[in-house]
Amino acid sequence: MGSLVNYAVKSLMTGKNIPITKLSTRTLKLLKNEGYIGGKWTVAKSKKAFDVFNPANGQIVGSVPDMNVEDAEDAILAAKKAFSEWKTTTPKERGILLRKWYNLLQDYSEDLAEIVTIEAGKPLSESLGEVAYGNSFIDWFAEEARRIHGEVVPSPVKSKEMVLIKQPVGVAALITPWNFPHAMMTRKAGAALAAGCTCVIKPAEDTPLTALALAELAHEAGIPGGVINVVTTSRENAPAVGKLFCESPSVAALSFTGSTEVGKLLYKQCSSGVKRIGLELGGNAPFIVFSSADINKAVDGAVASKFRNCGQTCVSANRFLIQDDIFDTFVKKLEDKMTAFKIGNGMELQTTLGPLINKAQVNKVQKMVEDAVKKGAKVVYGGKPASDVGELFFQPTLLINVTPDMMCYNEEIFGPIVVCIKFHTEKEAVDIGNSTTRGLAGYFYSNDVAQVWRVAKQMEVGMVGINEGIISSAEAAFGGIKESGIGREGSHYGIEEYTYVKYLCFGNLV
Ligand code: ADP
Repeated sequence: MGSLVNYAVKSLMTGKNIPITKLSTRTLKLLKNEGYIGGKWTVAKSKKAFDVFNPANGQIVGSVPDMNVEDAEDAILAAKKAFSEWKTTTPKERGILLRKWYNLLQDYSEDLAEIVTIEAGKPLSESLGEVAYGNSFIDWFAEEARRIHGEVVPSPVKSKEMVLIKQPVGVAALITPWNFPHAMMTRKAGAALAAGCTCVIKPAEDTPLTALALAELAHEAGIPGGVINVVTTSRENAPAVGKLFCESPSVAALSFTGSTEVGKLLYKQCSSGVKRIGLELGGNAPFIVFSSADINKAVDGAVASKFRNCGQTCVSANRFLIQDDIFDTFVKKLEDKMTAFKIGNGMELQTTLGPLINKAQVNKVQKMVEDAVKKGAKVVYGGKPASDVGELFFQPTLLINVTPDMMCYNEEIFGPIVVCIKFHTEKEAVDIGNSTTRGLAGYFYSNDVAQVWRVAKQMEVGMVGINEGIISSAEAAFGGIKESGIGREGSHYGIEEYTYVKYLCFGNLV
């Protein structure tokens, strides 16, 4: 990290300069206040902009163009033009450019982490973790580009030979969320670029600065103009820009990570053009602890899975199902761990739990706790907004006596709330775990080998953590079943979302 300097950001909305926290000089280079279209930094055609706030203290940390449909059309056109060249590059050439981007991302890891922290609020140590994870997708896809194999199919007749080749689908529109502003972009863009697609990215309105910083480094790496485009929009413009992505004949594929509600809307909108779609939506992960488990490891896994990003991840454990004979021990040990959290501004090194992203999220979490208490739940620890720290902070909270009529039993919490539910039999735990329309991740702890295999197969989810609370990796296939989404990201499957199979039939050979 370079030397720290005082940084004053100019609000493009009000024209005023607002001094903010000290940032390193290297980080400042990556803080952009323009969108990125066709290889050029650009303001919105309307000249409108919106400010970006640090959720830890409400300070403005950046100001970016509020682009609308007209700007998005430009970006799609730029991506379409670039596609005609990019699709002809060899996988090796694409791999080399991705590797250059990766090397720069690695070099600027600490600076990128600062940007993630000031706009997403997560503690710096977690942001460094996200940056390492996000960078790893570019590393992975730089290599995978060269392994997009086709097939030679044994022909049933002598006069023909049959070959299946994989080709890039075209322009990919990528809509990303605020909870992993770095990794959700690289997980999609890395795969798209490796496949030979170009892309238009719309980052979340809460966290556009990270996406722009990544684009700056892609530019510096020599990725040609138009191959990556970033369109920043306010929440007001997001639906219209999203609709354009879904309906434009120049867009071949749409990939979205975010809420189930918006995902369903995009799925519907994409039907008019029968567009390729990848959806990574909400989860409602069960975290089951059986009697045979190593309780200390289960408690550590519970803390890691629940409190990363203050509970705001789609694979966060949502319902803790604990076998009755170990219930009290588990709850006590978990409570002890929870007392150790240091709530605060993510830029302060001792902070281990940051704020929620915005007021709506705080209100939702508070409502869930109040609803549970009103219906008979007991608060073992926490239970309230941590208003003494700041407006968007919430105490790590542990609830027991939770029943199926409570909001926190059924809905994705997206906050630092642990909901503990007692069960007696394995079947009961699996049934409760599966009693949801979501099916992203699930976790369980058991040292009974037969049970491990049985339960892993019965869980209705796309990903299972077995005696493990942290499962994400570029090498693994990430994605859900049921209403949690369509398609997979990461692994070699991630690239397939951006290719189609073309069948070549060679005839009259004899
Ligand atoms: P959250 O409620 O957690 O912010 P969203 O699903 O609303 O999750 O947001 C995820 C991403 O989807 C963000 O980039 C946001 O701007 C975008 N988004 C929100 N509404 C729409 C929409 N109607 N069409 C396209 N994108 C949208």
